[in-house]
Amino acid sequence: MTAGWREVGDRVFVRRHRELDLNCGLVVGDGGCLVVDTRSHLGEGRALAEAVRSVTSHPWTVVNTHAHYDHCFGNAAFRPAEIWAARQCAAELAATGELQRAAAVAQLLSDGDPAAELIAIAPIDLPDRLVDDATVLDVGGRPVTLRHLGRGHTGADLVVTVDDVVFAGDLVEEGAPPAMEDAFPLEWAETVTALLDLARGPVVPGHGAVVDAAFVTAQRDELAALARWLRDPGAELVFDQRTRTTARGRA
Ligand SMILES: [Zn+2]
Repeated sequence: MTAGWREVGDRVFVRRHRELDLNCGLVVGDGGCLVVDTRSHLGEGRALAEAVRSVTSHPWTVVNTHAHYDHCFGNAAFRPAEIWAARQCAAELAATGELQRAAAVAQLLSDGDPAAELIAIAPIDLPDRLVDDATVLDVGGRPVTLRHLGRGHTGADLVVTVDDVVFAGDLVEEGAPPAMEDAFPLEWAETVTALLDLARGPVVPGHGAVVDAAFVTAQRDELAALARWLRDPGAELVFDQRTRTTARGRA
């Protein structure tokens, strides 16, 4: 597949980026397509849009899995398309976008990464089509379901399913521990349990390699152990060594 896309289901593609090991998704139907997440700044968003155009010329709709900058600061590259998200996502992004920008820019500057100046000027373009519990989009004749299954990585995570493929956003992460900055650790495992009910094939995490239900189950069990420990610090807390690596800057 061209432009970095990998087909993980029938006309369902994943593009895994060197930057933050971030995954974006693409679902192609007849006469329409859907883009899942838009990267960290306008330039990255435009590069993603160009990569979409190497696969299909159909008009796009966009989904943000959650309100973290690395998943939505490229939104403006896709306007005037509709941008979907969970109901609270727009409010979270409005409330935290400038704080996220300041934190990301400070870290990138300390790393000497020139992306700092691009994130510094990225427009914050709020999603405008909001989902309460679930909605089904018609993507060129293909039903694609957007679900808010509960709080977890943030207060407004959205899960995207098409055929047997699940785009989990950062509710699931591969290659680093789940990111906790503004998470709901007491509720996260329960939300992933609901996600597991949908996992019959590839599960695309927000970052890292595409995984399966067995991986998600292991991560859910870790999150459940963490919640038990938070409720009772005397409880045993043992983590799977697969998730012990670190990845700076993921959000
Ligand atoms: Zn995140």
